[in-house]
Amino acid sequence: MPWGKGSPAAAGDGRAGRVAHRARSETWKKPPRRIEASECITCDTCLRNCPPEFGAIFDRGLDVIIVPELCSGCPVCVMVCPVDCIYVDEEWKETDPDMWNHIELTTEGQP
Ligand code: SF4
Ligand code: SF4
Repeated sequence: MPWGKGSPAAAGDGRAGRVAHRARSETWKKPPRRIEASECITCDTCLRNCPPEFGAIFDRGLDVIIVPELCSGCPVCVMVCPVDCIYVDEEWKETDPDMWNHIELTTEGQP
């Protein structure tokens, strides 16, 4: 199971710590979720319902994605998605640096 860049233990419990260290919380036992782009209707319902302490879903214009390092697997998004296109992602891969740079910009000033 990849934990992402940085030390999970040092990432802290908060979202800002996870963003800073680009790592999942080591206390999360569930795998993250992923959105199947070929089925998604980009309605943003999941994005609006992902709990703010996770803030794992992003609308990139052409697609809506879940950042696995920020996703606890809770799984509120699964319950609200109107087309059931959110799946468990046991084989998740690290989020690319460009996306992290975007996340860091949108996270500035948040607790
Ligand atoms: S499973 Fe929970 S934390 Fe992960 S994207 Fe869905 S609502 Fe957000
Ligand atoms: S709720 Fe479902 S269909 Fe709507 S953006 Fe999220 S994954 Fe896509």
